[in-house]
Amino acid sequence: MQQINALKELLESPKKIMITTHHKPDADALGSSLGLAGYLKKKGHQVQVITPSDYPSFLNWMSGNEEVLVYSQKTDAQAQQIIREADAIFCLDFSALSRINELGQYIEQASGTKVLIDHHLQPEDFADIMFSDTNAAATAEIVYEVIRELGDEALVDVAIGECLYAGIMTDTGSFRHSSTTRNVHMIIADLLHNGIDICKVHRNIYDSYSESRLRFLGYVLKDKLTVVREFNTAFIAVTSEELKAYDSQTGDTEGLVNFALSIEGVRFAALFIERQEAVKISFRSVGDISVNEFARAHFNGGGHKNAAGGISYIPLNETINKFVSLLPQYAEQLVN
Ligand code: 5GP
Ligand code: MN
Repeated sequence: MQQINALKELLESPKKIMITTHHKPDADALGSSLGLAGYLKKKGHQVQVITPSDYPSFLNWMSGNEEVLVYSQKTDAQAQQIIREADAIFCLDFSALSRINELGQYIEQASGTKVLIDHHLQPEDFADIMFSDTNAAATAEIVYEVIRELGDEALVDVAIGECLYAGIMTDTGSFRHSSTTRNVHMIIADLLHNGIDICKVHRNIYDSYSESRLRFLGYVLKDKLTVVREFNTAFIAVTSEELKAYDSQTGDTEGLVNFALSIEGVRFAALFIERQEAVKISFRSVGDISVNEFARAHFNGGGHKNAAGGISYIPLNETINKFVSLLPQYAEQLVN
């Protein structure tokens, strides 16, 4: 493993540590952050997790959730101070500082040692110590390996283990994506051995819909799904009025894009969400189509080969038109 000795040295004496992750954290982002935080606290460090935005309430069960500082205008001064004073800054589950909004520039200017732990493609070069494994199924998988390399596997208790499990479970699509390796299952076996409750984690994340979220899902699948058969593509677009009508909360649109991809023959799926600032886009694909490349080339985004995201600053309708008009360029990959 790269740079484990540098990390060992960094953590030799008690340190002030700040951990952050990407905008609108998902279960891997928050789970890897809180799992690492739990471990570092056990080692005697002072740890603060700061997220660049709020996150879905179905992640609130994670141990350490109450101590997370959610960045906003109101917490800006506090966040700046923590970053300025940190001896070490851990950046988890993102590979570009633009993914953490205002926190990016504060971290860029900070003097603490920057440690990146991530599995996204094409990582930027901003960290002093890097654990970047683009083949890893989840950042939580790398966090577990880092803890093991540091010789502290025994410190991974139920609370830490369930945070890491949540990250691996969700980023592997519940152990069905091709990223689900023997190593992944070996780690899960270790976590189970330590007593994690996988039923609880699964229920908390997937079976915790509000009534309005479930009705929103029904509406979207019935009325908002477009299938472009010619290019084996399906997409869903949701307006801000529709989000409002269903009292949509952070996280309520998570997983929607997978329904578009679940249609037989569909190889490329997109979800467009009209937010106040811009249109947020999720891309998913099966097989050789790289949505990472697609998102980077056309929608200011990136991610993984089969799961990526992006952003569009033109109106929703124009964004959809742009997307549909790009499909012929990819006909060879989409159709053959
Ligand atoms: P999701 O569609 O679930 O939000 O994100 C899918 C993957 O793409 C995740 O790994 C996420 O971190 C990444 N991603 C989502 N949005 C963006 C974006 O705007 N820029 C970049 N570089 N990556 C993104
Ligand atoms: Mn991840």
